[in-house]
Amino acid sequence: MSTKSWSPRSLTAQAMGKIDPVTKAVVPPIHVATTYIRDEDNGYSTGFIYGRPDNETTREAESLLAMLEEAKGGALLFGSGSAAATAVFLALSPGDHVVASKVMYWALRNWLMTEATRWGLNVEFVETDDLAALKAAVKPGVTKLIWAETPSNPLWTITDIAAVAEIAHKAGAKLAVDSTCASPVHTRPLTLGADIVMHSATKVLNGHSDVIAGALCAREDDEFWNRIKTVRRGQGGILGPFEAYLLMRGMRTLHVRQERQSASAMALAQRLSAHPLVARVLYPGLPQHPGHDIAARQMENGFGFMLSVQVSGGEQAAIRTAAHVELYKRATSLGGVESLIEHRASIEGAGSPCPTDLLRLSTGIEDVEDLYADFDQALKAGHG
Ligand SMILES: *Cc1c(COP(=O)(O)O)cnc(C)c1O
Repeated sequence: MSTKSWSPRSLTAQAMGKIDPVTKAVVPPIHVATTYIRDEDNGYSTGFIYGRPDNETTREAESLLAMLEEAKGGALLFGSGSAAATAVFLALSPGDHVVASKVMYWALRNWLMTEATRWGLNVEFVETDDLAALKAAVKPGVTKLIWAETPSNPLWTITDIAAVAEIAHKAGAKLAVDSTCASPVHTRPLTLGADIVMHSATKVLNGHSDVIAGALCAREDDEFWNRIKTVRRGQGGILGPFEAYLLMRGMRTLHVRQERQSASAMALAQRLSAHPLVARVLYPGLPQHPGHDIAARQMENGFGFMLSVQVSGGEQAAIRTAAHVELYKRATSLGGVESLIEHRASIEGAGSPCPTDLLRLSTGIEDVEDLYADFDQALKAGHG
């Protein structure tokens, strides 16, 4: 059996099966050198010149991610998800038109509205799940990039990646997808026609709330991807070797974590939909979710670990519910092995599409009965 036929699950468990040639260690060493010896003929036969663009540990984590995303163009790791995302926009030119999802990670939306605009990008926000609205916003020859987040924070709106890729390509634009909340276990956007996939690797890829990292993967090693490489090299945005090692260690268990977390999220979404103190549950796995049919088509192995709950008593009841959790941890971020809860509207501030009665739940790997019991007692205390 050739290595090519091992499944992504097997290759991920062994971090591509790399064995250290000197010691035969099953965990490769962390490469910390910032510089490499030049050959006598003045060349660099290894291809390693300087630590900012060239680090073997970072490359090993990149090759694992490229395998998971089926990224023929390869993967690049950055010091954060935000560094990865902004590198895509900085690879465009001032004056370029960009269409982005209205419902998306709030800090990136903020950056697009302020910094990207200052730098000369013309950014327009539309509901990327509304294909007619998207078609109307895209200007052939002028729009250079569509940026879609799916499932999107914190309403878990689903964008039809294949349909949007077609709209983008017809107009001569690229499609980049923020797939942080899907992860390659559920969706591989490049196989559906996207050009770039972005991850906040801080979240479920690492999975242990102890690394800040970001990633981009490319369908093709083309001119745009080379612009992005130039941006990372020039800005020094590469992920350091210690973080790359931790990320690879976290990724080895990605499939078991994701499957468990998604199964628990589904169980919680179903049970909470019937709870008398819950007005509405937002989760793409529920048949009543507006994006369910597309999610059922473009996601596999479940519908992800994120769900949102709109509580029946409005904003104050939502905030009081969050105040009463004991097992859930009241904190921002998502995707770790511990479950987190957050009242998003207080974080996102004015202009956010997030309802004020909404609590965002990131489902970890705890006992799902304990998670339900904790949220149930918090809801009762919050409405008392
Ligand atoms: C967290 C997050 C980001 C930003 O990533 P950082 O690693 O915090 O910079 C971008 N997109 C989504 C969907 C996120 O959840």
